[in-house]
Amino acid sequence: MSEPSRGAEFDLIELIRVRAAVRDDVALGIGDDAAIVQVPADRQLVVAMDTLNRGVHFPDNTAPADIGWKALAVNLSDLAAMGAEPAWCTLSLSLPSGDMPWVDAFLDGFLELGAQHRVALIGGDTTRGPLSVSVTVHGFVEPGRGLRRSGARVGDDIWITGTLGDAAGALAQWRSGAAVDATLRRRLDRPTPRLAIAARIAGLAHACIDVSDGLLADLQHVCTASDVGARIELDALPASPDLVAAFEEPRRHALQATGGDDYELCFTAPESARDSIGQLAHATTTPVTRIGRVVAGERVRALHADGSEWLPANAGYVHFGG
Ligand code: ADP
Ligand code: MG
Repeated sequence: MSEPSRGAEFDLIELIRVRAAVRDDVALGIGDDAAIVQVPADRQLVVAMDTLNRGVHFPDNTAPADIGWKALAVNLSDLAAMGAEPAWCTLSLSLPSGDMPWVDAFLDGFLELGAQHRVALIGGDTTRGPLSVSVTVHGFVEPGRGLRRSGARVGDDIWITGTLGDAAGALAQWRSGAAVDATLRRRLDRPTPRLAIAARIAGLAHACIDVSDGLLADLQHVCTASDVGARIELDALPASPDLVAAFEEPRRHALQATGGDDYELCFTAPESARDSIGQLAHATTTPVTRIGRVVAGERVRALHADGSEWLPANAGYVHFGG
């Protein structure tokens, strides 16, 4: 931050420091030039980073606590997609002003989710500028067990956690000026990173990705990386009761297949893993649904019940800001 606001920057950093949780493996947290952490000798370090910009990644009327939650959630979702167990994070805040109450409320959401997953905030940066939040997360996997996009095999089942389309449904309602369903809006503002099941599917799944840009677009990344194609049954895509109540076909299918911002895990696994995946879903209280198959080829196709191909107006999530 520039010289005149150094005082405000220190106050903000002190506010963050006193509230941040610590872990035994953090030798040095917030307050020095850098943090020092103890990486377990028998683990690989997994690192991910994601940024949320106002007007691009969340609506202007998003509560600060929800921005805090989501900034960490989207990052933890990336670790989940790798089958990693989270440990630490850093936080870069760009703020229009040194607004202490805003930062305090932001931390409510950020630290609430962090506490749920024992993630320690170990450092960051605070600058003045348009509202933007960047988070880096660090986690562990057993050597060689990280879940990549590139492992899908022809014949694999394709699975999805949770339900699809809720966040995009809320966004569609908000943009149209209609009343916004509170449950859908909650799914937009407070996505659930699927860490519980992720840590345990590493031995079963061949490939995994988290759905941020829309199911078809993200599954296409898996197919491209794995050199395979995919067939998705539109009618198999899981929908929440709120989405069903708010959107008729064909709109609902479009939200589910291409809406984005779901932060569910899409993974592929051999047919022989079906029972084990069902048991894991039960043990971790994570809903999972089989939605299709990996096939030879290179494209993802979504099919109607009669076998005809469904063609989306756009194949990925277009952020509402631009
Ligand atoms: P430096 O100028 O050496 O980079 P800073 O004044 O930027 O130091 O940061 C001081 C300390 O506060 C560092 O430990 C840094 O990681 C931490 N810090 C700064 N901003 C944040 C933030 N938004 N969240 C968490 N820690 C922060
Ligand atoms: Mg700095």
